[in-house]
Parts: sequence; C-alpha cells; structure tokens
Amino acid sequence: MDTDLLRKYLEFYQDLGIKTVYQPVVSTIPAAVIPEIDAPMPPPRTHAPKVQPVELPPLAPAGDTLFQILTDIGDCRRCRLHEGRNKLVFGVGNEHSPLVFVGEGPGADEDEQGIPFVGRAGQLLTQMIENTAKKEGIPLLREQVYICNVVKCRPPGNRTPEADEMEICGQFLYRQLLAIRPKAICALGGTAARALTGHKEGVTKMRGKWFKWNEIPVIVTYHPSFLLRAYNQNAKREAWEDLKRVLHFVYD
Ligand code: URA
Repeated sequence: MDTDLLRKYLEFYQDLGIKTVYQPVVSTIPAAVIPEIDAPMPPPRTHAPKVQPVELPPLAPAGDTLFQILTDIGDCRRCRLHEGRNKLVFGVGNEHSPLVFVGEGPGADEDEQGIPFVGRAGQLLTQMIENTAKKEGIPLLREQVYICNVVKCRPPGNRTPEADEMEICGQFLYRQLLAIRPKAICALGGTAARALTGHKEGVTKMRGKWFKWNEIPVIVTYHPSFLLRAYNQNAKREAWEDLKRVLHFVYD
C-alpha cells in the first residue's frame, strides 16, 4: 500500500472518531506471501485442510520383555476378576520358546500356585506335549515351551471369561506373544481360539487348520479339560494329531 492510500485510510478512520491505531506484531511470514490489500481474495477452500496423521503409541513397546509386562500388570485391578483372585497367573516356561500354548484362564489349582496348567488338565497337557514329542523323535520337555492363558485371574466358578475381561487382559497376552515371537502358537480350546483368531466357530470346526495371529501361525486344538471327560476318545486322538502337526512344524 502506498503512503497516499494509507493517509486516506487514516483520515477515513479519524472522521469516524477513531484516534488510535495499533501497530501489528511484526510478522515472520515473508512479505511475498502476505497478499496486497487490494489483491484478489483467494478462492474459498473446497476441501478440508490437511490434517497431520497422529501416530498412536504402540501397544507393545519396543524391546518389551516378559519381566516388563509382569511389572506393568502389577497388582492388577483392571477388571472384576481380581476380586476373587488368590494369585495372578502370568505364564510359565521358556521366554525364547518357538512354541507357545495359550489356554483360557486359571482354575483353582493355578490360582493357588500362580502357575498355569498345574491341575489335572495341566498334567494331561504336560503328558501330551512330552509323550507326543518323544514318540515323534523330538526331545522336548514342558519347561522348554511357554504356557499362558487369555486371562490371568481365575474366573469365579471357572466360568468362561467375559468379553471385557478378555479385552482388558488381552493387551498383556498380546505383549507376551509379541515379546516371545514364537514360530507357532497352539490355542487350547474355544476361548483361546476365538481370542487369537477372531473366528467364532467351535473348536471342532477350527481344529486341524492353520490360522494367523500377527503373522504367527496358530493351530487350534481341544482344551485338555475337555479331553479329560471319558467320552472324548475321538477328540483325544484328534488333539494328538494337532499336536504332532504343530511339533513337526516348529521343531523339524
Ligand atoms: N485351564 C486353563 O485354561 N488354563 C489353566 O492354566 C488351567 C486350566
């Protein structure tokens, strides 16, 4: 704006009774991008301004470890399951295992001892792992694999964990599995199968097939508690087949 035009503006405002004008704060925008007052108005925006994508914090911190996850769980009161808990059951076994077994949730014995799969179902699981491996010529003991559950506190009366409980506790299972990064995961029973695959079918339909959890192959088989029931001879045979399959996949 030239000085003549500026004077005219000031006289106009003076006539309106305005006695004071304020100097604007010095702009850091280069003069070239400040439009002249009589320059044509820029065309109206036809689309929303560009929004910078916001990066969400990762669900599993880099370099996560089982120890860090256990520390973060702490004296967990995030869901109602803590109310009846005796001991939180985090997981047991080899932190670097290429094979992880995931069950549903602790039962009475596990709640008492703080270790997964130590009751009758657990003893059957140990036999299944060790005997099948031995028969297949794979030297493997229970302590060489990693075993954990979808929820870490015993559901009252051994009921199935509820969706919100699985979701809250699932963040820690997620971190455990990412920290271990096994070659394969074996889901024991419907709850673990649903949590890891997102599929809603029963175990009978899902077993014998490979699924993926975050690029890690998942095999689904029957829960050892189900196999303990006398009439499940056929299911027992199928579970041994599933186990053979996953053991060969991981250890051959
Ligand atoms: N059943 C499970 O699902 N997990 C255990 O730890 C024990 C029994």
